[in-house]
Amino acid sequence: MSALRVLSVASEAFPLVKTGGLGDVVGALPAALAREGIHTVTLIPGYAAVVEALHDRTIVRSYDYLHGAPAHVLAGRAGGLDLLVLDAPHLFARGGNPYVAPDGTDWPDNAQRFAALGTAAADVAQGAVPAFTPDIVHAHDWQGAIAIALLHYRGGARPGTVMTVHNLAFQGKFPRELLADIGLPPQAFSAHGVEYYGDIGYLKAGLALADRITTVSPTYAAEIRSPAHGMGLDGLLRHRASELTGILNGVDTEVWNPATDAHLAASYDARRLGRRAANRVALQARTGLAPDPDALLVGVVSRLTWQKGMDLLPEALPALLAQGGQLALLGSGDFALEEQLAKAAAAAPDRVAVTIGYDESLAHQIQGSVDALLVPSRFEPCGLTQLCALRYGAVPVVARAGGLADTVIDANEMAQAADAGTGVVFAPDSSDALGFALERVAALRHDPRAWQQMQRRGMKTDVSWTRPAQQYAALFRALAAARTG
Ligand code: ADP
Repeated sequence: MSALRVLSVASEAFPLVKTGGLGDVVGALPAALAREGIHTVTLIPGYAAVVEALHDRTIVRSYDYLHGAPAHVLAGRAGGLDLLVLDAPHLFARGGNPYVAPDGTDWPDNAQRFAALGTAAADVAQGAVPAFTPDIVHAHDWQGAIAIALLHYRGGARPGTVMTVHNLAFQGKFPRELLADIGLPPQAFSAHGVEYYGDIGYLKAGLALADRITTVSPTYAAEIRSPAHGMGLDGLLRHRASELTGILNGVDTEVWNPATDAHLAASYDARRLGRRAANRVALQARTGLAPDPDALLVGVVSRLTWQKGMDLLPEALPALLAQGGQLALLGSGDFALEEQLAKAAAAAPDRVAVTIGYDESLAHQIQGSVDALLVPSRFEPCGLTQLCALRYGAVPVVARAGGLADTVIDANEMAQAADAGTGVVFAPDSSDALGFALERVAALRHDPRAWQQMQRRGMKTDVSWTRPAQQYAALFRALAAARTG
């Protein structure tokens, strides 16, 4: 049986470019799918760092003019991935991040940038690169979604299309006047196509036109069909419910392995949990926290946004400090939240450490040393940090939302009696509830034996890509069979 071929279309891929979980997933899924007999080629924009990293490159497609200037599609390898890279410096070779300028505002030409990516994807899908003609196009979030619409309206033979939603909050909405510029015909602007509340919706178009839709947890797949969480798309998602499934994310268990993690002062595993103490000493020293071996040390690694519930933290902090606890936070995001959290740290520098920025190494060090990792999200499609926490023996303390609810088992009395609890799950999203959850964590930790058992259960939880990859593989194969059958 020849391998099924998937063209994955996305705006980021770890380790080349990452702003969040999307990058992790796009970077890790191909290797996991390869074990299921599926060959993935990933099409991403040619940001400067990506083009620089690309080796064994060849030009496989050229455009005299693509949204403003000539462009090429390069084939090559980087970061362990088989890549197609849209080399279009006028669209992608700039500072800032993939979506926003250094001043925090969206790039003004985002519609054109990702329409260009979609055009390249649609061309590859229809055979422009003879060495790789995919059976499936797998589009990620709004940046990939427009490829599905472009392909749909071209007509002709095409592969099966799968739209994966990593976060429904990011929708890619642009003025209707851009329709022709994006490369879409007039009839695309309809309720069944790309029209979205009078504008053009990239994500909406992908959701309307893909053969199959997935999102990153079963609970989120159910939540987004309700008005409370559907963000304007719940009607469409209810309409397409029979084509919508939730497949949990995994984590790359080689990147996230406490037994081999070079970022840690001391490596450890479930049998040598005592070695975490050395990491704690190192973290406290690095972040300026008091060298307290016994305090309840709580970690946060997060974008600092309303979605992540980060505004609840300052108010809940007294509940933690009252118990002699410490907080080690790493994150970046909303300027106002960054400031508010930095202020909380300045008020108690030996108990609260706030590091503003993006730091892969510190993220590992926090996971490898804290007692509990806090994820108080208001909504969370899947969430990866709680999965890393499980693997690292940091007890996750999470809001009951989306993938958090699917991956952490609350250590209530019944769960503890059944040897099942792996963390603390709390609701609703208020600072009182968060404070109460932190009190529960402190109480649970008063029984060190039960606490260690909970850490070990977490570490035994399968957070790898094995099962998710099997589910994606089954979905891709069923779709390919349905289209050729
Ligand atoms: P989201 O994609 O919504 O931001 P996820 O939990 O799905 O949230 O994924 C976040 C990913 O980004 C995780 O791998 C996490 O470790 C990482 N991360 C988030 N903030 C930082 C940061 N400030 N420094 C380093 N890694 C971070």
